[in-house]
Amino acid sequence: MELEVIIGLEIHAQLSTKTKLFCSCDNDAFGVQPNTRVCPVCMGFPGMLPVLNAEALRKGVEGAAALGCTIKPFSKFDRKNYFYPDLPTGYQISQFDQPISEHGEVEIELEGGNKIIGITRVHLENDAGKLTHTVNGTLCDYNRAGTPLVEIVTEPDMRSPEEAQTLAKEIQKILRTVGASTADMEKGMMRFDASISMRPVGDEKLYPRTEIKNLNSFSALLKALKYEVKKQRKAWEAGSPSTQEVTVGWLDDKEETKLLRDKESAMDYRYFPEPDLPPVTFTEKEIKDILARIPELPLAKKHRYINDLKLTDAEALKIAESPELYDFFESAVDKGGEARKIAGLFLSVVLARTDWQKTGITPQHVSDTLILQTEGKISASAAKEILNALMEDSEKTAKEIMEERGLEQKSDSGEIDAWVDQVMKENPEVVADIKAGKDKGIQFLMGQVMKMSRGSANPPLVMQAINKKLNT
Ligand code: ZN
Ligand code: MN
Repeated sequence: MELEVIIGLEIHAQLSTKTKLFCSCDNDAFGVQPNTRVCPVCMGFPGMLPVLNAEALRKGVEGAAALGCTIKPFSKFDRKNYFYPDLPTGYQISQFDQPISEHGEVEIELEGGNKIIGITRVHLENDAGKLTHTVNGTLCDYNRAGTPLVEIVTEPDMRSPEEAQTLAKEIQKILRTVGASTADMEKGMMRFDASISMRPVGDEKLYPRTEIKNLNSFSALLKALKYEVKKQRKAWEAGSPSTQEVTVGWLDDKEETKLLRDKESAMDYRYFPEPDLPPVTFTEKEIKDILARIPELPLAKKHRYINDLKLTDAEALKIAESPELYDFFESAVDKGGEARKIAGLFLSVVLARTDWQKTGITPQHVSDTLILQTEGKISASAAKEILNALMEDSEKTAKEIMEERGLEQKSDSGEIDAWVDQVMKENPEVVADIKAGKDKGIQFLMGQVMKMSRGSANPPLVMQAINKKLNT
């Protein structure tokens, strides 16, 4: 039986805000003492009143808009009730029937061509705390309780684990591009739940799915999905595909899934409107302004780099990936110089240093250096030397380094002529060979002149001088 894989994702990403979603506690609790970023609101004390963080709302809708979603003029918050020690209020404040946005799409690049994946909805909600299970009991840290999340729900449009991973990576890039989230997997800023089912090819209906909860790396996402595909394929081939929806967890060390709950014990969240928060509304103009703020997205950027700026695929992919890289690159291109060559210097020289951002090197430095090279004032190797020197001392200009180190190429034709004359006089047999048709000798003469000038002669001018003399 030929089977088709159906995958949908739910992605939670923490918004990069100063404070939590409904209180003024610090949102950045990475590496701090447990339970030191808490207050009565995020601890759910009786009588507390949540207030919506405007920055979180703005970043949430910008993220949603970048995922192609329609921003809704009216949305509201709802309580999602469940009881668990990581949730001090006993309910999560989320959005149920009226999310901030819906109906988006994201384009991904696959080997066989591009594909559009539908985004069902993007909504805002607060996160729960973190539990650490030890031999002596469970420890609760509420620093994360109340931090702002966007939940991104996709359509079941993916047909392989690899497609799901590609989409997850693309969404990470998009969230970073708009500055909605750092989407840092290592810090738990982005997590996935994946739903997967299979069906015979040609069948239109969907079969009961398995939901894999809390995958916190791209590799775990891929591995868990591959594991489930194998498992479900076996069940289908044995004639006993799952007849009910189940929720499983992924055990990274054992590389297998574990049943968390089946349909009978599925949660009833008893959603109801959050009475302490007013609905969120946007005017048409506000929505238009949000859309106008969305910058060029990673895939479009990559294609523009390849098509308009003539970068290679690999260069474009690398630079378009993160704001630190493309902001620097585009700024250098704006200052002048051929984009393709700026990309070359940037990637091969500047990025060769992992601490390049701390060196103080500027787009102006890269542009100036390239222009010196393009004008024939310095050689390619001198350009590298200058950039490396600028990363040691970024107070200087490219020109100052060139002068200090005597890297300027000689373009004085009198001096070049004299060197060429001398080299030709010293190598009469080579000159005779060239005149007899052995062109290879020209490279030899060229090398001798460069050596005599200690690398300072401008190679095209040397070549010109040699050809002129051979022809007279
Ligand atoms: Zn708080
Ligand atoms: Mn959620």
